[in-house]
Amino acid sequence: MRELIDKLQENKALSKYEWTVLIEGRSPELAEYLFQQARSVRHKYYGHDVYVRGLIEFTNYCRNDCLYCGIRKSNLKVSRYRLSKEEILSCCETGYSLGFRTFVLQGGEDAGYDDSRLCGIISAIKTGWPDCAITLSVGERSYDSYKALHDAGADRYLLRHETYDAEHYAKLHPPLLKAADRQDCLWNLKKIGYQVGTGFMVGSPYQTAGHLAEDMLFIKDLDPQMVGIGPFISHRDTPFAGQSSGTLELTLFMLGLLRLMIPKVLLPATTALGTIHPKGRELGIQAGANVVMPNLSPTTVRKDYALYDNKICTGDEAAECRNCLERRMESIGYHVVTTRGDSLNI
Ligand code: SF4
Repeated sequence: MRELIDKLQENKALSKYEWTVLIEGRSPELAEYLFQQARSVRHKYYGHDVYVRGLIEFTNYCRNDCLYCGIRKSNLKVSRYRLSKEEILSCCETGYSLGFRTFVLQGGEDAGYDDSRLCGIISAIKTGWPDCAITLSVGERSYDSYKALHDAGADRYLLRHETYDAEHYAKLHPPLLKAADRQDCLWNLKKIGYQVGTGFMVGSPYQTAGHLAEDMLFIKDLDPQMVGIGPFISHRDTPFAGQSSGTLELTLFMLGLLRLMIPKVLLPATTALGTIHPKGRELGIQAGANVVMPNLSPTTVRKDYALYDNKICTGDEAAECRNCLERRMESIGYHVVTTRGDSLNI
């Protein structure tokens, strides 16, 4: 099995069969071998730096009904909120003083933020903090909408493809949503000139090693600047309530594989990873990740943006989150840096 990892290390492509064999045949020894290679590649390009992104969860309204998601429209128990432009700018002001140079505006697919409203927010952030990058994560939109947001100043866009396989995708989403449409969005974002991030849940219901193999092939083909993956964690008020979570072990293994497959990609150690294990984010960094995303949203709304159960850091002020992550990274020999942290995978 080591030969498949060596093949990746030599920048050779794996077939779907080889990916499946590698994922199914993993062992603790193989994982340790993989993580050593992944760390060495990560150190070669990014040293021991850890990039931070200030996450602003600005709306939890969503028109969609993804079966795994705590803020799906059918969940009537959610207390819905929208942040005003002033509230978002205030998050940026706090974030800038804490050393953030990237702001991630994340929300559900909320018609309350049409292009003109979002463009106004983007240009206000760019005017106030011109040395910062803006990342959007607001779901599927038209080509023209993506283009307008990019023209207004958005630099990056995160849209997890979730799962490449159309049948698997259909088991996780309502009939209106299609895997192919989501993939088309990603190609459009690339064409427009965004730095693009995709990703998937690890251990989502019905997922097989074959699905993960297809995810790797798709990501290789897309060649994105960022890949966000995290374990699936169920939410009690969704149809997947009570389903088992994805494991730390498989998530870390996939992080290591992603680092080797696209050496210069940006890889976050996600909050979901920190939710399933107290040292999840540290272990993610040690498996090859190089980004963390502390929360900058006002603490008054944090608990209302629960995509899954038991999400960590919902009560901490932005400064506490930033300092906590800095300490965690220092404890394993890595350093949070104050920079935009653009991807070297261009
Ligand atoms: S996963 Fe995203 S698009 Fe789907 S319901 Fe949740 S917020 Fe909406």
